[in-house]
Amino acid sequence: MTDTAPSSHQTYPCTDCGAQLQFAPGTTALACPYCGAQQQIVPSQRQVVERSYDALAAKPRRDPASVPPNLFVCTGCGAHTESDAWSDVCQFCDAPVVADRFDPDLVDPEGVLPFQVDKRGAREALKKWVSSRWFAPNAFKKVSEAESLKSTYLPHWTWDAETTSNYRGERGEHYYVERDGKRERKTRWHHVRGTVQRHFDDVVVPASAHVSGNYLDRLADDWDTGKAVAFQPQFLSGHFTQRYEVGPEQGLDAAKQKMAAIIRRDVKHHIGGDEQRIHHVETRYANLTYKLLLLPVWLLAYLFGGKTWQVLVSGQTGKVQGERPWSVWKIVFAILAALIVIAGIVYLANMNQ
Ligand SMILES: [Zn+2]
Ligand SMILES: [Zn+2]
Repeated sequence: MTDTAPSSHQTYPCTDCGAQLQFAPGTTALACPYCGAQQQIVPSQRQVVERSYDALAAKPRRDPASVPPNLFVCTGCGAHTESDAWSDVCQFCDAPVVADRFDPDLVDPEGVLPFQVDKRGAREALKKWVSSRWFAPNAFKKVSEAESLKSTYLPHWTWDAETTSNYRGERGEHYYVERDGKRERKTRWHHVRGTVQRHFDDVVVPASAHVSGNYLDRLADDWDTGKAVAFQPQFLSGHFTQRYEVGPEQGLDAAKQKMAAIIRRDVKHHIGGDEQRIHHVETRYANLTYKLLLLPVWLLAYLFGGKTWQVLVSGQTGKVQGERPWSVWKIVFAILAALIVIAGIVYLANMNQ
């Protein structure tokens, strides 16, 4: 017995030449990479829906890390590919492989935001980003020409909630006193308590552990999740799709942290006055719903100075987030140049006295 889930998978053969079709970014069609034939994806009758978290929490589930990888058998060359992805390409012939059955112990993807930006668009965006980085080493400028741009659907959780937060704190009001002929500002503090409420819609948190969290988080605030369509495996063909690694419970924790920052802002606003102190906030969450979305990202990893750097290009907007190297020499020279200019001004100022 092997611990590999024997996965069957979807195939989308080209009716003209028999090659495997791939989803073409920016369209609603599958396209043949060899003969160019196109095949429209029939829109799903299903709507993207928010799922009840209480119903999910009551169901037995496995930790995503303990779910065995999928075994894909390539229809092109027959090679077996073991992968913990939901879609991949055959490592021997590049034919797309897409899972058609998802592990019953995992949450199914509810929706997908199909790629809008194609490879050329991603490269253009990258080129602009690279050339606008100040103080980057010259060799960094070649990064946008790298061939290793990989179109990847990354799993994300989205959360909705109605929150009610009771708080205790203090409102500070400024007043002024005269001391030694000087006006001095003081703050008078009053104890306050109150309640704020908010409706959260689609708080997006990454469900991927392998992609640099900070940059993914920054992209997470930009996704237009309203454009997501009901999940259909066709959109994955020819692109890599990561299975989620962050379970819904951890995802909810991360979402609550994001909500907490917004609730604190609400509380400060509610306290009013010139300054605010928050001592305690207790939040209740009602109508907690979630969905698992696959969001499109062009991923680039490049080696520089013996280190791997990661850059992400949103497949929806072309926005770039990523790590970049700094040129120590360029920074040192810039500081020296600034110091010389300052010294020159000081010198001239002294001359004129
Ligand atoms: Zn074809
Ligand atoms: Zn193959």
